[in-house]
Amino acid sequence: MTQHHRIAIVGTGFSGLGMAIRLKQEGEQDFVLLERAADIGGTWRDNTYPGCRCDVPSHLYSFSFAPNPNWSSTFSPQSEILDYLKDCAERFGVMPHVRFDTELESASWDDDDGLWRIETSQGPLTAEILISGQGPLSDPSLPEVPGIESFEGTAFHSAEWDHEHDLEGERVAVVGTGASAIQFVPEIQPKAAKLHVFQRTAPWVIPHRNRPLRRWERAIYRLFPPAQLAMRAAIYWARELFVLQFRHRAVGRLLERIPMAHMRKQVKDPALREKLTPDYRIGCKRILPTDEWYPALAQPNVEVITEGITEIRPHSVVAADGTEREVDTIIFGTGFHVTDVPIADRIEGRDGRTLAETWEGSMRAYKGTTVAGYPNLFFLVGPNTGLGHTSIVFMIESQIAYVLDALRTMRRRGAGTLEVREGAQAAYNAELDRMTKGTVWVTGGCTSYYIDRNGHNSALWPTYTWPFRRRLREFDVAAYSLAARAREDVLEPGRALVLDG
Ligand SMILES: Cc1cc2nc3c(=O)[nH]c(=O)nc-3n(C[C@H](O)[C@H](O)[C@H](O)COP(=O)(O)OP(=O)(O)OC[C@H]3O[C@@H](n4cnc5c(N)ncnc54)[C@H](O)[C@@H]3O)c2cc1C
Repeated sequence: MTQHHRIAIVGTGFSGLGMAIRLKQEGEQDFVLLERAADIGGTWRDNTYPGCRCDVPSHLYSFSFAPNPNWSSTFSPQSEILDYLKDCAERFGVMPHVRFDTELESASWDDDDGLWRIETSQGPLTAEILISGQGPLSDPSLPEVPGIESFEGTAFHSAEWDHEHDLEGERVAVVGTGASAIQFVPEIQPKAAKLHVFQRTAPWVIPHRNRPLRRWERAIYRLFPPAQLAMRAAIYWARELFVLQFRHRAVGRLLERIPMAHMRKQVKDPALREKLTPDYRIGCKRILPTDEWYPALAQPNVEVITEGITEIRPHSVVAADGTEREVDTIIFGTGFHVTDVPIADRIEGRDGRTLAETWEGSMRAYKGTTVAGYPNLFFLVGPNTGLGHTSIVFMIESQIAYVLDALRTMRRRGAGTLEVREGAQAAYNAELDRMTKGTVWVTGGCTSYYIDRNGHNSALWPTYTWPFRRRLREFDVAAYSLAARAREDVLEPGRALVLDG
């Protein structure tokens, strides 16, 4: 017996939960959320490292349909964001739809029956529509360093923090100086006897504007919700201005004065300052807000090493200049599989090719959501929807609206399958390439996770976010081919059925 559902959604982060909530509000009942973990929350369930918090203000980094007047600070800590997601899932009634410990292992399009055949860690199911909210930063990436497996101390990735392990008095190596490391290093620095921070590229660091929200502010948001909406709008438009620095060199040059002044104020040692000065243009990699990073690095128990790691031995880390440092623990703040998302190896389209085979290292989609050759498949936070300046929830909600309109269109037209036309996808991507040309991400002199192994921007939406919302406001049926239902008999909602093969 194979369970059949009209819609299968992968993931229970902002994407999966947001999609499920909006489907429910539209009256759809026949959907499941497949979640490989034992709890909901995505990013905010997995990243429990000390100091973890969002770096986009919470008034904006939350669902527009579920404002939370109770945020404790302007940039909320991980636990509060997780609680918020859990509260939304409960409040909007999506929890009964979640299948925990259920990993999508493969999904292949069955053209004869017009549905997805899905294999999960809990058995097979079929679905007419597959919506993947697998997460842009949900699969931790480890560096390929010789000997990494031979290390006999404790080693973990920042997204899999080992809370059982006490770092008190230990010699600790931190690999990476990205968005997670700049949050957890200041937290663990006072505990460690010695902290070796291995930095490949110095980040641009700006002052953090985090502050507690006062009781009266929260009361106003509770009693007068439009005030919070107005604050959200103000934050949104202020952050849109950041795009100017990605697209105009002169603005970037002007903006670079802020982090340089921040560093001059916080780092007095000229040798350390030199190590921490970025050698690429601001915005090329994610700009990091923190007031604690530089002071932590300036402490006597901390050493910043700019030579790359060439080898890991059972009890030590060896740098490119041949120096070897004995360590008890290695913490990898080395990011995620962003442009090589593992789910691409698991989804097979009409011609039996996986997405990874089709993409050949450069993810391509139409409006970040649909892919030619993969009928009835929708991505949330798909190719070219990532951002360097504002809340990804804005992009997610834009895509959710688009998917809902696509489903309404299918219903209205009695269509069973929908597939974006090759030509529409190619034209869209040509336009994206034009928009990316000349931006700091490709001219700024850095390597970043936005750029894939072919040197192509397949992660970022390269301009302001409001044009993205405008483009996805309505489902543009002309860009798609629609076909009638393949087998009317097998597709009754909620039915368990046995399919051939
Ligand atoms: C530490 C950290 C801080 C961040 N801060 C910000 C911020 O301030 N602002 C911002 O805009 N963005 C931020 N991000 C980016 C963040 O990932 C997104 O904002 C957002 O949480 C993505 O939501 P999502 O639902 O798309 O993905 P996720 O939250 O990653 O959820 C994906 C879910 O899919 C599940 N899954 C994946 N593959 C499978 C499978 N094969 N089968 C079943 N389940 C599967 C995962 O277990 C997970 O629950 C941050 C990311 C990190 C790591």
